[in-house]
Amino acid sequence: MVDFGFSSYKSRFIDLDKVDTKLPTELFKEDEILRACIGCGGCSGACTAAQFTNFNFRLLHTLIRRGEYKEAKQEAEKCMLCGKCYMTCPRGINTRKIIQGIKRIF
Ligand code: SF4
Ligand code: SF4
Repeated sequence: MVDFGFSSYKSRFIDLDKVDTKLPTELFKEDEILRACIGCGGCSGACTAAQFTNFNFRLLHTLIRRGEYKEAKQEAEKCMLCGKCYMTCPRGINTRKIIQGIKRIF
């Protein structure tokens, strides 16, 4: 690792070489368009589940890319599959379908 003259908290380290990438690979294969996400937060801003919980599609997406599947599964369970996020996404990403896929894989 490069020495930048400071260190990060070890508890926040994620060794991507050791992350099981089966789930994101499977998801990206099915939904290539997810790569177009710009993290704008439009989906989270419109989210019905976010009105009642701390659910956040961007967080779910990040957890999956980081291999934090236990947390991702808990997050995915909060989604009500209403589809409002899909209607607001400026990149046309069918977030509802992606979350359905995540739930199915889990
Ligand atoms: S609205 Fe679309 S582009 Fe923006 S964060 Fe959500 S999925 Fe990504
Ligand atoms: S489908 Fe899920 S993530 Fe999308 S707006 Fe509805 S509750 Fe939120």
